[in-house]
Amino acid sequence: MHELSVAEAILDRAREAADDYGASGVEALTVELGTATHVNPDQLRFCIETVAETRDLADAAVSIETVEPEAACDCGWEGEPPSFDGTAGAVPSARCPECGSQTEFTRGKECRLASIEVPDEAAGTAPET
Ligand SMILES: [Zn+2]
Repeated sequence: MHELSVAEAILDRAREAADDYGASGVEALTVELGTATHVNPDQLRFCIETVAETRDLADAAVSIETVEPEAACDCGWEGEPPSFDGTAGAVPSARCPECGSQTEFTRGKECRLASIEVPDEAAGTAPET
């Protein structure tokens, strides 16, 4: 199951980031998920929450921010891929509507940890201390 391995990678990253902060845990984490990734946001959230329980991160609130796809073509066209209908399993068109050649996605392929929040006591750089 693809979402499960994605969830594991994201939680590994969250744990690393928490360690970098010297934090004991993660209160919240935000994931950027491009809608051209074929990863279902609801399934991904479920997998993250499930895996989190096995990794001492069960208290983390999971937010998923979806990123709409954009593509760019060598001919200069750029914009939202025209035949992308946003339904699960749909294949976003990578064809340029202007010239018909293959385009590159410039957005919408994200699937990564965007940010985490850690408990206050771990914020080691508080200015008033
Ligand atoms: Zn083109």
